[in-house]
Amino acid sequence: MKNIFDNLQDHSTPFYYYDLPLLRQTLNSAKQEADKYGFHIHYAVKANNNPKILQTISSFGLGADCVSGQEIQLAIDNGFNKHQVVFAGVGKTDKEIKIALQNNIQAFNVESVQELEVIAQLAQQMGVKANIALRINPNIDAKTHHYITTGLDENKFGIMAGELANCLSIFEQNKNNLDFVGLHFHVGSQITDLDVFRNLCIKVNQWNSYFIDKGFTVPILNLGGGLGINYAEPDKEDIVDFKAFFSLFNEFLDIDKSQQIHFELGRCIVGNCGSLISRVLYIKNGLNKNFAILDAGMTELLRPALYQAVHKVQKINNTFDQKQKVRYDVVGPICESSDCFGKDIELPLLERGDMLAIRSAGAYGEVMSSRYNLREELNFVFKD
Ligand SMILES: *Cc1c(COP(=O)(O)O)cnc(C)c1O
Repeated sequence: MKNIFDNLQDHSTPFYYYDLPLLRQTLNSAKQEADKYGFHIHYAVKANNNPKILQTISSFGLGADCVSGQEIQLAIDNGFNKHQVVFAGVGKTDKEIKIALQNNIQAFNVESVQELEVIAQLAQQMGVKANIALRINPNIDAKTHHYITTGLDENKFGIMAGELANCLSIFEQNKNNLDFVGLHFHVGSQITDLDVFRNLCIKVNQWNSYFIDKGFTVPILNLGGGLGINYAEPDKEDIVDFKAFFSLFNEFLDIDKSQQIHFELGRCIVGNCGSLISRVLYIKNGLNKNFAILDAGMTELLRPALYQAVHKVQKINNTFDQKQKVRYDVVGPICESSDCFGKDIELPLLERGDMLAIRSAGAYGEVMSSRYNLREELNFVFKD
């Protein structure tokens, strides 16, 4: 058992526990492997926007991938360079586009023809030029949960191939206000099969040639994020294999030396650095089942209820003989049947007051928390 959970007994639960040394090791590894090929990493702010996390990540010189005007502002306020900020999302509001234009960000990742027209109008009104990357839907199956697949034709993301000619003429008509800076792709999240990224490289090579043949220079190719983490065994693989990931792109991308390659990584940067720490409130022994009822639920960590995500649950105090194993349905206190962290999980015998860690909760955890049931504000403990 990891000793990272020592000395937590005095804190009132539930709380998010962030392991900043592990975050720094993860960032070191990602940077080191990306730097080998001159690749640039943007951190996907939506995965975790806790200011201390953002400050740690920005201190490593990563850019920021944002999906709202608020995220752009928060990223800049927490040390990210505004010229390394990119802005994605299918529904950018006029207000958000203006925030991005005022900051002269590195790129809008544009997702529809109409959005491109609106950005051109707003840039003209403000007398500025917008940097535009077109998000192309590469029609690749990410082989992940359908709620987190984004790169198929049937998804709402990206510009359909048939609309590209239209985009090119909008660039022609708005030369003073639109700068084409590159192409953007993102196929989904929690991708653990590297073949998916190999397929992406093939599509990227094709699209890159298409644009170059049309007379465009394509300074930036942004390949998105999506590299998955090991939820089942977070201690076995606490830092993902960035070496295999980046070397695959280096091997299969067929691009010019002058082109910049960008990645937008979220989950694999912050996922394993966070745990949700909770106490057992009650043990309830049913006819065929035992329930461990926790003081944390779907209001603190929504992923299991939202898309059947499985997080490792682990007892972190040593009150009892750890050898006696019992199966529990580990559930939260919220008035919803989906408020369940896992069924039939084998754990040491539990009693009221025992502390549990719900692991790998650093990505899409805190950011999705809510106050449904009028829950108390979240607490945090940082390991510096
Ligand atoms: C969510 C998202 C990412 C980050 O995805 P991860 O799976 O967390 O790496 C990157 N790019 C875009 C456009 C996204 O929507």
